[in-house]
Amino acid sequence: MSIINILSPHVADLIAAGEVVERPASVVKELCENALDAGAKNVTVEIRGGGTALVRVRDDGCGMSPEDAGVAFLRHATSKLRDERDLEAIATMGFRGEALAAISAVSKVRLTTKQRGAESGTLVTLEAGEITDMQPFGCPDGTTMEVRELFYNTPARQKFLKSDRAETAACQAAALRCALAHPEVSFRFIRDGEEQFFSPGDGRQDSCLYALLGRALAADMLSCVGEREGAAVSGYVSSPSAGRGSRAMQFFFCNGRAIRSQLLQAALEQAYKNTLLTGRFPACVLYLTLPYGSVDVNVHPAKTEVKFTDERKVFDTVYYAVLSALAGEERAKAPSAELPDSIRPREGFYQSMSAEDFRAKNAAAPARSSGASKPPSGSWRPTGLRAPDPSWQERLDLKSRNVSSFEPKSPAAQGPTVPAGSRIVEKAVQNVEKPRLPDHKILGEAMKTYILVERGEDLILIDKHAAHERMIFDRLKAQDRAVMAQSLLVPVTLRPDAADAELLERNAALLSSLGFEIEPYGEADFVVRALPADIDAADVSGAIEEICEKLRRGGAPKAEEARDEILHTVACKAAIKAGWDNAPEELERLVEAVLSGAVKYCPHGRPVSAVLTKKELDKLFRRIV
Ligand code: ADP
Ligand code: MG
Repeated sequence: MSIINILSPHVADLIAAGEVVERPASVVKELCENALDAGAKNVTVEIRGGGTALVRVRDDGCGMSPEDAGVAFLRHATSKLRDERDLEAIATMGFRGEALAAISAVSKVRLTTKQRGAESGTLVTLEAGEITDMQPFGCPDGTTMEVRELFYNTPARQKFLKSDRAETAACQAAALRCALAHPEVSFRFIRDGEEQFFSPGDGRQDSCLYALLGRALAADMLSCVGEREGAAVSGYVSSPSAGRGSRAMQFFFCNGRAIRSQLLQAALEQAYKNTLLTGRFPACVLYLTLPYGSVDVNVHPAKTEVKFTDERKVFDTVYYAVLSALAGEERAKAPSAELPDSIRPREGFYQSMSAEDFRAKNAAAPARSSGASKPPSGSWRPTGLRAPDPSWQERLDLKSRNVSSFEPKSPAAQGPTVPAGSRIVEKAVQNVEKPRLPDHKILGEAMKTYILVERGEDLILIDKHAAHERMIFDRLKAQDRAVMAQSLLVPVTLRPDAADAELLERNAALLSSLGFEIEPYGEADFVVRALPADIDAADVSGAIEEICEKLRRGGAPKAEEARDEILHTVACKAAIKAGWDNAPEELERLVEAVLSGAVKYCPHGRPVSAVLTKKELDKLFRRIV
């Protein structure tokens, strides 16, 4: 015989919690949405231990009265919906009044909140959904919600959690989506005490994109705007030559909400038909604005799925906007990107483009043809449109390139032919007068290792690898945090051992600030998506192994030391090697650098040159005694 039980509110909450709170990232999302609904201008999200130990979201929004703070955790307690008519046109992120009830049912919560202008704030603590303490409390305007020990009372749920690393990544992604969705709100995300990203909150899509997704991605984006019959779309899509290996960089927002939509994905990808290599996916950050009544968000508890009343219209709006972005037609109409200098690109992202470059590119980039998916040369693709300005080139000073891309001005000026596979050192600033060095003559090379130079009464031997290594090292160091990165067209997968994996994770921010985009992939693998431009794709795993080795040896070196160690490796890998054939102009550049005194020791402290004086030679041959 079956007996119908009415579930106790607590059990009902636990069941509902399963729908709303699947994992720590759901807590991040719900709390961020509440902060947005509260009208916050600044939101700080902090997590520890993959979000299970702590999720803390602080906002400077409207705050809650003591009465509201008490009932906010009750199921179906919401200030955002009064009756079914409001359901027709939902303008807020939340509306079900479920999130706080669900979250507090499976964790320990501490809420402090104060309404603007109120004399005092309120503190509420809860365990497993029960209020354990509530009292007046001094705190700043706004709300801080702390969720600790998520799922502590539901061990079964804990088992479904992935590794801390995976949960952390999901939390960060959830916060990132909220931040991207709201360029008008400044978001800060802190993971285990370290800031991971910060958006300026200046209301601009371009600065938001730049700050959150990094220079490299921003550099490859085209502005995209379109409108039809009340549906509007704006944002950025990747240029066809910058296809990605997955859809991870496709962000769609509808009326301020991050959404997943097969329809929008199809509209986007359809527009790239025949311009993207198969197996590559466009990246996008697209903001769709629709009348509130023509989109239903009440489809799924997490509200990430939406239903459009007029699917055709939405599809066409996106499809044609993307098409014309690719055709370059909309570039003139693109919002001019005057980024304030205060904007920092996402810390920990490789930085191949300055704010200035990004600004310049968005303001006046030439139209690109829609069919322009250039065949990749090798596995490298340069990031972005970096129109070389003199200062940029001067800074570069010396840059090795594959010889195939080197085109001498005229056949006559070609000089001795450069054997294929060798590298040349580009004369970066050909038209700039260089100070003349005391006359010297390059006699040649010994053992493809030492350059022989005669100067006055001296015979100078230069270790070409060591000298070049030093030059690159100095340049990288001078670039500060702006190491130029190149995305790998074909990401490289690595399987480091557990200790190295841990090192890579722990130093991820440092590595990416130096141009290494390395992400965990699956349980044990890592994918390398970008490298400092100086390193050859073929050297990826060697370079990373070496870096791990150094990081390990150094124990826990200071950030600056660790940074230098990594730059050593980059410089070493990037430098010309003993045994290589080098063009005369390459050798000339190295010799000039050494003779000018700019280069004395390799980064490891070995000398780069040795001098034999005429006197010493004369002695050697007993010309003198
Ligand atoms: P919903 O967001 O669907 O209304 P929640 O359970 O997420 O439901 O929140 C319940 C109520 O608590 C909200 O309607 C709002 O009144 C209040 N609240 C929650 N978070 C905040 C916040 N950060 N600032 C101000 N009020 C909040
Ligand atoms: Mg909510």
